Amino acid sequence: MGIYKYMEKLRRHLFTLAALWILIVGLSLFFNYQNSINEQQRLALASAKSFFDQVVLTRKWNALHGGVYVPVSDETPPNPYLNVPMRDIEVDGLKLTLLNPSYMTRQLAELTMENGDVQIHLTSLNPIRPQNKPTPMEERALYEFEKGKNEIGLLKEEDSGTSFFYMAPLNTEKSCLQCHAVQGYKEGNIRGGISITLPFVMEIPFIPLVVTHGVLGIIGLITIFIFGKKLNNSYKIIQKQASIDSLTGIPNRRSLSEKIVQEYNRSLRSKKPLAAIMCDLDNFKQYNDSYGHVAGDLCLQKVAQKIESNLNRPGDYCARYGGEEFIIILPETSTSGAVIIAVKIRKIIEEMKIEHIKSMPSGVVTISMGVAAADGNNSLKSSKELIKNADLALYEAKKQGRNRVNSFDKLQ
Ligand code: GH3
Ligand code: MG
Ligand code: MG
Repeated sequence: MGIYKYMEKLRRHLFTLAALWILIVGLSLFFNYQNSINEQQRLALASAKSFFDQVVLTRKWNALHGGVYVPVSDETPPNPYLNVPMRDIEVDGLKLTLLNPSYMTRQLAELTMENGDVQIHLTSLNPIRPQNKPTPMEERALYEFEKGKNEIGLLKEEDSGTSFFYMAPLNTEKSCLQCHAVQGYKEGNIRGGISITLPFVMEIPFIPLVVTHGVLGIIGLITIFIFGKKLNNSYKIIQKQASIDSLTGIPNRRSLSEKIVQEYNRSLRSKKPLAAIMCDLDNFKQYNDSYGHVAGDLCLQKVAQKIESNLNRPGDYCARYGGEEFIIILPETSTSGAVIIAVKIRKIIEEMKIEHIKSMPSGVVTISMGVAAADGNNSLKSSKELIKNADLALYEAKKQGRNRVNSFDKLQ
């Protein structure tokens, strides 16, 4: 594929590129947002887990000692649900009661609540103490644990706000059996669970995320826009270069091929005539021979510019057809109108008085012209026939002695 076609294709895909960029930035924003939420949940899970582990560790320590005796007080009355011998003892008049892991957990939970918003709840599907009855969410978690799940962590939306709920099971250990064996638990059984509820404030850096992605998106779009503009300019330059003759600066034959088809079809649509004038410098081979190729080039430039600058209507067009041949296309012009223009241009070229001693009898550079026209009514087979007719008329002008205008009409 040539660079021209490649650029054309790239130009058409710039919008797709911009849309793709917006999609990528949008997806990145979405994933970063999701990631921030997940990260916050991971943090909440880790801190809830750490609470849980500390409670379990303290309970383990308590169970290891078969409970701990503490002085009886208003806050710590004897535990009515603890049916063990020597639950209450008296040492030197000081009344002591046995604080088992469950009672201790309850007191820890109360202390934690006093110090903050963290809720610790010891619960079981089969509680000894009625207050240890599970909430509906805890109950669901306990059933999940029985099915093999080893922890649950999720966000809880309530009217009072969002909190993070964590729960893990409590496994029956040997030290637990002295109290819980009566309920039929065996070592290793899941006896219940502890839930930890932490306040959860969603702190998503939404504005920085939107701003960074917005800036990124805009930078990308501006880059695509600048690239597109540069591409467009280069494309136009290349397009122009591809259709301009480098020596004379007027349209080349490639451009003519497009133009003639375009104008021919337009004339058929509008039913208006289209004229073509084929021009050929006289005895130009001899000009080169006499004055050199460089002078010949200069002469071609001057003549081309002269022809082009003497075409008055905006639709009129002149191209370099070949070596020292030019073609003029005149939309909405009949043969008679084109002959008038051809005669005028022939005269102007002669009046340029570019010396050409071997071109007799004038002694200056002259031009011969063949005029033909299409009437806009399908009288010709194609635009090629129009050029062929103009060429035939030119041939006749050459035959008749050069420096003259001939029209195809006159040949018939
Ligand atoms: P006629 O009057 O029958 O047209 O004779 P002519 O000599 O002009 O025609 P011919 O086709 O024999 O020669 C055309 C010449 O134009 C041949 C070549 O030397 C010259 N020519 C074609 N292109 C260029 C060009 O780009 N630069 C120069 N300097 N000369 C060119
Ligand atoms: Mg020629
Ligand atoms: Mg010639």
